[in-house]
Amino acid sequence: MSKQVRVRFAPSPTGPLHIGGVRTALFNYLFAKKHGGTFYLRIEDTDQNRFVPGAEEYIMEALEWLGISPDETVGKNEKFGPYRQSERKHLYQSYAEQLIANGWAYYAFDSSEDLDQLRKNTEEQGNTFIYNHTIREQLDNSLTVEADKVAERIAKGEDYVIRFKTPVNEILELKDIIRGDIKFDSNLLDDKVLFKSDGMPTYHLANIVDDHLMETTHVIRGEEWLPSLPLHFLLYKAFGWEAPEFAHLPLILKPVGNGKLSKRDGDKLGFPVFPLEWKTAEGISSGYREKGFFPEAVVNFLALLGWNDGTDKELYSLEELVEAFDLNRVHKAGAKFDPEKNKWFNHHYLMLQSDDDLAKAFAPFLYEKGISIDYTTLVKIVSSIKERANFVEEFWELGDFFFVAPEKYDEKATKNWKEETPLLMQNVADLLNEIEDFSSLNVETTVKAWMTEFEIGMGKVMQPLRLSVVGALKGPHLFDIIEIIGKEETIKRIEKAIASL
Ligand code: GLU
Repeated sequence: MSKQVRVRFAPSPTGPLHIGGVRTALFNYLFAKKHGGTFYLRIEDTDQNRFVPGAEEYIMEALEWLGISPDETVGKNEKFGPYRQSERKHLYQSYAEQLIANGWAYYAFDSSEDLDQLRKNTEEQGNTFIYNHTIREQLDNSLTVEADKVAERIAKGEDYVIRFKTPVNEILELKDIIRGDIKFDSNLLDDKVLFKSDGMPTYHLANIVDDHLMETTHVIRGEEWLPSLPLHFLLYKAFGWEAPEFAHLPLILKPVGNGKLSKRDGDKLGFPVFPLEWKTAEGISSGYREKGFFPEAVVNFLALLGWNDGTDKELYSLEELVEAFDLNRVHKAGAKFDPEKNKWFNHHYLMLQSDDDLAKAFAPFLYEKGISIDYTTLVKIVSSIKERANFVEEFWELGDFFFVAPEKYDEKATKNWKEETPLLMQNVADLLNEIEDFSSLNVETTVKAWMTEFEIGMGKVMQPLRLSVVGALKGPHLFDIIEIIGKEETIKRIEKAIASL
């Protein structure tokens, strides 16, 4: 790679960023960092009808949360600014006019009513209407209207659009890093609108002009943009500019079936499709952050949607991804989204957190329940239950007994509560009462020594003891629990079990 790599993420701020968009941003980020290049964020907001307030801030916040913030964007290193297309509006018209001057585009005055009528008539004859070389010379545009008339109509303020004059009978030979060589027949393309008389460019024109002016070397984007590639390729040719290299990323598919994972799938399928929660008057769409995912887990599972390093390695930090990432190893085939696997990733990153951080993350859940506990104890609790959790939120279900005595006892487990059990448990309570050093290890040694001395089977004591303390046969090492809740509470729970079982 000879040129300094410059890649971009170019979302339109039309709502919350879909997880597929986040993957596009991530792959751009990884590619840029891998090659010591620049990753910039450009906001493509030329379609004012689809503009959604808050969407741009959402995009920035999501990238920041994931640790993949752009090097350049609105308000940050604006070397090629502005980075919002609406603020670059003044740039595009002269480029559209340049194409007209060179015979690559033309003014068209056809009203949408006329075009609708034409479309209808054509469809009635069983054909599809395409505004292209087959018909453009019969329509109301600068290819059919005299130049002075065209100028007059524009001067009078008549609405017009500028359309691309797609070349006829050309086999375009396109290249895509992921898909290889693609041949495309230019006759199949329509003459896309590039510019409108309201002064706004369409996506195609603005995108190409900006990618050129902002010195983009590689365009890495979702497969849904592949159909635009022939036109984009022709636009570069028309301007006489060197085109960037292209890479179209595979679709992200629903967990079941072959459909594309869409924005609407969100909470319908029981998992978020957005990085952050998104609230509107109609409701809330859940986000990975609010669901308790660690950003490292999201980055990790997204990286593997359509890419791997050729081995079966699955766990990568962001730094490792930068190191290993290779666009040539991105697959063509759609990548299945696996929400269950995503939880597994989260578990891995949960285990990498310090107990201190986990305790801090868990504290608000306890606060909400009105439970206060000293911090050192909380750290110990968290440390003993985290192994079984995918999310911090699950700590409560996994360890509620640390904070509150059982209200009821698991019915199946009470079968082990035999006739002799109350007496045995009373003996245990008395034994515990005598112990001075109430550490897990010492309590365990003492209780086990007592069992051996009196030849009492393990099961006879351990299961009822756990049932008394926890309310069920679950939880971490019993003597760890006993140490944490303390002597007084343990004895109280044993006595309560004797009284109620
Ligand atoms: N604005 C387009 C989008 O919303 C950009 C597509 C591209 O990367 O060229 O995804």
